[in-house]
Amino acid sequence: MAKTHFSLIAQDRIVYEDDVDMVILPGSSGVFAALSKHAPLMATLQPGEILVRKEGEEDRYFAVGGGFAEVRPDEVIVLARSAESAEEIDIQRAEEAMRRAQEYLASPEKDRDLERRLAMEAALRRSLARMKVARKRADVRARGVERGPLPPQREEERE
Ligand code: ATP
Repeated sequence: MAKTHFSLIAQDRIVYEDDVDMVILPGSSGVFAALSKHAPLMATLQPGEILVRKEGEEDRYFAVGGGFAEVRPDEVIVLARSAESAEEIDIQRAEEAMRRAQEYLASPEKDRDLERRLAMEAALRRSLARMKVARKRADVRARGVERGPLPPQREEERE
């Protein structure tokens, strides 16, 4: 299968870069898959999960705190507000961030400062994405499940 070059770039580092078979991204208007020969597009990303599939390797999961994706026929570039691989995520830190955000959003404070409220809502979404990705990795390990089938390719995407 033709590969696409995937770069996941956070503000201070390259989190991941390799030739891969498929990347699934949390687009602001919906989750989408980018494969080789994908039509060019730009998309904003919401906090969520990125899945990277490469033949012969275990699927990789990343938490992303939102950002931008540029998809070209042979390349996918994500400029992320923040990004961590499943292995890097500190679950306890994410749980604490979640609790802080939930407490603020349940308090009367939330109606006094719109900017802070939006920031806390975004922090909550980031923490939930981190916990989801970290837990998914733990589940995959526990079940010994590695990867599902690749989605069917459209005729024009085949080599
Ligand atoms: P916190 O309140 O715990 O700092 P946050 O969502 O405000 O969470 P960010 O501003 O998104 O944190 O990220 C700051 C830096 O810390 C980034 O480099 C990010 O990758 C890293 N980071 C944040 N939370 C975690 C986590 N739970 N595990 C590992 N790295 C994290």
